[in-house]
Amino acid sequence: MTKQEQMSELQERLLGADITPELRKTAIQLVMGDGNLDADIVFIGEAPGKNEDEQGIPFVGAAGKFLNEMLGAAGMQRSDVYITNIVKYRPPNNRDPLPDEKKAFWPYLLKQLQIIQPKVVITLGRHSMEYFLPGLKISQIHGQAKRVQFGDDKLVIIALYHPAAALYNGSLRQTLIDDFINVPKIIELMKNAA
Ligand code: URA
Repeated sequence: MTKQEQMSELQERLLGADITPELRKTAIQLVMGDGNLDADIVFIGEAPGKNEDEQGIPFVGAAGKFLNEMLGAAGMQRSDVYITNIVKYRPPNNRDPLPDEKKAFWPYLLKQLQIIQPKVVITLGRHSMEYFLPGLKISQIHGQAKRVQFGDDKLVIIALYHPAAALYNGSLRQTLIDDFINVPKIIELMKNAA
């Protein structure tokens, strides 16, 4: 099966399992992910917002525009990477995803990573970070590469601040831009170390 076929099958399984039925009821659609299934980098945000729910594509609102700008500053485009969220239905009124909602989607997120096999997973904000790097503080580890093992899978995780949080906060914004620009260097270093 191609990666595209595997991802479509996973999406069908997710819909068939009817996880988080309450969210499914209030959302317009499932927002599975967007981008290149052969990407070296997968970005993982929190949950779709209004624009994402309407278009069925993650990070297309204000935070997405900022994400696109930072990708450009780091010499990448959206078609070079894959972008998804830990929770794949929009929570009502953009509230934070609940622990049970994150837990319900987590196995499907891991399966997405198994299909793509990226070199690096970049978490955006604390909701996706806390699952990959439990107990760590984003203020202390943002921008650093961390190697973690999930069962048979070894992943390299870089935790970054969420673009929506950094958008209107001057110092956080610059920190996020600096971390972003550094990502290609980290990936090069890892390729050489592999
Ligand atoms: N914020 C997120 O975390 N994900 C999106 O898809 C959009 C905004």
